[in-house]
Amino acid sequence: MRYISTRGGVAPVTFSQAVMMGLATDGGLLLPERIPRVGADELRRWGGLPFAELAVEVMRPFVVEEPLVSMLPGLVQRAYGGFSHPEITPVRMVGGRPILELFHGPTLAFKDVALQFLGNLFEYLLDREAGELNILGATSGDTGSAAIHGVRGRSRIRIAILHPHGRVSPMQERQMTTVLDANVTNIAVEGTFDDGQRIVKSLFNDLEFKERYRLGAVNSINWARILAQIVYYFYAWGRLSGGRVDRPVAFAVPTGNFGDVFAGFVARKMGLPISRLIMATNRNDILTRFVDTGHYAMGEVHPTVSPSMDIQVSSNFERYLYYLLGEDPAAVRGLMDRFSAEGSFSVTPEQARAVSREFVARAVGEEETLAEIRELYQATGYLADPHTAVGLRAASGEGEVICLATAHPAKFGAAVREATGVEPELPPVLAGLRSLPTRCTVLPAEVEAVRRHLIHSFQ
Ligand SMILES: *Cc1c(COP(=O)(O)O)cnc(C)c1O
Repeated sequence: MRYISTRGGVAPVTFSQAVMMGLATDGGLLLPERIPRVGADELRRWGGLPFAELAVEVMRPFVVEEPLVSMLPGLVQRAYGGFSHPEITPVRMVGGRPILELFHGPTLAFKDVALQFLGNLFEYLLDREAGELNILGATSGDTGSAAIHGVRGRSRIRIAILHPHGRVSPMQERQMTTVLDANVTNIAVEGTFDDGQRIVKSLFNDLEFKERYRLGAVNSINWARILAQIVYYFYAWGRLSGGRVDRPVAFAVPTGNFGDVFAGFVARKMGLPISRLIMATNRNDILTRFVDTGHYAMGEVHPTVSPSMDIQVSSNFERYLYYLLGEDPAAVRGLMDRFSAEGSFSVTPEQARAVSREFVARAVGEEETLAEIRELYQATGYLADPHTAVGLRAASGEGEVICLATAHPAKFGAAVREATGVEPELPPVLAGLRSLPTRCTVLPAEVEAVRRHLIHSFQ
């Protein structure tokens, strides 16, 4: 299996090369040259597999190369050994609604599912070539802590994470800044998540800097993250359908950078029977507006109670555009160029209709989010975090929908308390954080300031 760029400017690379490259060198995003199809018999068998075995099956056709493909069982075992639930991503029935809990990893958000795998994958690939890697990423909160926990203390890897100063929850901030391992650098940027992401993108696009410091990516632009997230769509379907291939399921996905919902889109392309993919956004609704109108236009970022979704420019969206535009890299490049020049673009009415066949989109406001948390708690005693609540609200009235629960409620305790008056119980990994020392540098939202600091950290 070879990987190509959405913008067509990269000679096809292997899976390992795609993982190490992160962002494609032509500024696009890497994708497999074709999506493998799963036959009905295989699908039926997958429906009964435990998570770790299923993960190996789902990943194998995307990896293919030896010896890596033979190492997958070990890598998967190490990645998910630290999860606190034996099923890794269990489906809980809550008042008759299936909730796919993705928050049983070390930082209590769904990003651990991908980043625990990626950390192990990086280590294996670097050991093999006696190489080193400097990971650079921007976070709206959860990616940063999950990435840091995925690679902390590993000898061949250093990591620097930018987060928007004062705009992540105190708990998220502490999950990052209390990690004092020598290979970890935390930077608080005086700006929004999009500012941080823009700085990171521009450093990656500086090829000389990227090569000299061997920059690697962990934001959801890394293909291996998407790959790891495809697994739980199959897993949840298996739990609900018992492996019956004529039993489609619907998913509601709290969406920010479009990584998670894109993984669902790929799962459906592979042949998973998904009837509807409900893309749930908070009031930062660029994606919802796009699905409703075919017009993709940047707006302002509004801080909300679901901060990990306070995003306007969704980095993975370009991967979806590639398929929407008929796998035509020149067309993708055209639209992305227009977007950087003008801040918006429109697709044709026919393409817009295709989008609305593929996704249902709902934007959920602050009051509705809090009301969802409150009503669910009153009806069932289950506490949902505000991101999960956005998905639950978007799914209401849609019949049976598997809602992705993307964070543990205690991670966003203030919003949960405001909605219900109840304080979610702190799991042990969070309870100890308050008293620990922290390390973090505050910098202006400027590429050069960040570059200077990184040159120092990546020595
Ligand atoms: C990152 C995140 C999301 C959004 O996921 P994307 O893949 O960026 O769309 C939703 N909820 C939580 C808790 C997150 O951390």
